[in-house]
Amino acid sequence: MQGLIKYRRTRLPVAWLSAIALSLLLGSWLLIQGQPRAAAGGALPTLHGKGAIDLSALQAPAAPQRTLIRNAAFILTMDPALGQGDLGVIKEADILLTGDTIAAVGKNLQGNGAEVIDATGKIVMPGFVDTHNHLWQSLIRGCGTDKDLNGWLGACVFPLSGFNFSEADVYAGVRLSTLDLINTGVTTTVDWSHAFTPTFTRGNIQALSDSGLRFVFAYLGSADPAVINDMRLVKRTLIDPNPRATFQVGSHPGTADIFLPNLLAMSRLAKELRVKLHVHLLENISQRNDEAFKALAQANALGPNLLGAHGIHLTDEEINILADHDVRIMHNPLSNMRLASGVIRLPALKQAGVQVGLGLDGGTNDTSDMFNNMRAALGLQRATSLQANIVPTVNEILRMATVGGAKLLDMSDQIGSLTPGKKADLIVIDPGAVNFAPNFEAIPQIVFNTQTQNVEWVFVDGRVLKRKGKLVGVNPDAIMKDAQKVADRIHQFLFP
Ligand SMILES: [Zn+2]
Repeated sequence: MQGLIKYRRTRLPVAWLSAIALSLLLGSWLLIQGQPRAAAGGALPTLHGKGAIDLSALQAPAAPQRTLIRNAAFILTMDPALGQGDLGVIKEADILLTGDTIAAVGKNLQGNGAEVIDATGKIVMPGFVDTHNHLWQSLIRGCGTDKDLNGWLGACVFPLSGFNFSEADVYAGVRLSTLDLINTGVTTTVDWSHAFTPTFTRGNIQALSDSGLRFVFAYLGSADPAVINDMRLVKRTLIDPNPRATFQVGSHPGTADIFLPNLLAMSRLAKELRVKLHVHLLENISQRNDEAFKALAQANALGPNLLGAHGIHLTDEEINILADHDVRIMHNPLSNMRLASGVIRLPALKQAGVQVGLGLDGGTNDTSDMFNNMRAALGLQRATSLQANIVPTVNEILRMATVGGAKLLDMSDQIGSLTPGKKADLIVIDPGAVNFAPNFEAIPQIVFNTQTQNVEWVFVDGRVLKRKGKLVGVNPDAIMKDAQKVADRIHQFLFP
């Protein structure tokens, strides 16, 4: 989904040019000017949100020293140097984890006292890399399901600029989303946060930290010095000390006065902090009016540190600009379908050499299901081209969802493949289920047959976050109950 601030300030789509819509937008815009984030330079909420949340109960258990996953039917290493083909497949093999690291992959490995997991008949692969998401938006699941992007934002998102989120409110939503992500085998997520207030930001990051996931926090900023100071503070104090966390700067590209000063400031800040600049790029056709590429050029932002979510309504010339500057694109097919946004030109992007990853994109993917996401990415191209062998192929989509996402984030030295020495972020899929069996061609079946409940084990940094189909170290019922209370309040606020 597009950034809230961007839409609040954008030129209005035709459908919005009514007095009511205009007053809503102006009202929202005025509200954000008075938002507590202006107080970012003042007293900040505590990191550990004392009171409402018992954080100690949510910590995942410590990593076992050694884990041997034995006798998997297939290990998709995603490293062609380790196995067959571009997926690096090894049949009937083992994988040994030591601490947070992959120690070895191959046949007949010795555990030497390791905890042994029998993976007979099962599939092991790297965890998924979700390159674009908005985790707080689980709190508005099911909202505006008959609306396009602009309609959904107007009904479900814009008005929330006036909702007073507590740290615990945001925590509940984000934590719920992390459970959904772990369930479907995501091990790294990029959470592009609206960061409405410092309080919102702290609840958001606390939930990510407690989840055990590897995460990237993309903080939507502005030219406001107080906001910029808070971004520096958040990176230094909440992100950098966490080995599983990475910081990005969020912004929106446009040449209008309401966008450009913010984009210039955020492009500068991303360079100062040596992190990526993460924007929404031409998601809806109405955004052609924003002159995104002109703005990005003016901000000196075109380059390998620029991440563009969606990239749907691109011209041939713009695709060449992306390729020439190694700008990366995050594709969110479930969201694009739900919001009637359009179909990405994936074959053209691929042919030009643009790196593309997969993302789940917040509330309008409805459920964080990476298997549905892969099927949708394949299906959209086939359905619109009438070709079954078009980009992406099954292997391409599996790579895009794992090592491709890792490369796009410049994290492939750590994650994305099961190469010894990399972090032990991986999943075990059980194909012995009514929606998957029999094993006819197991690898394409990962894309076409797998459902979230077939993900049996999830490891991040060698720590088990899902064991035998159950989430570890967390009480999902309690988190759902907390999220329900917030959702009830939001519902009442939006639809009194
Ligand atoms: Zn988005």
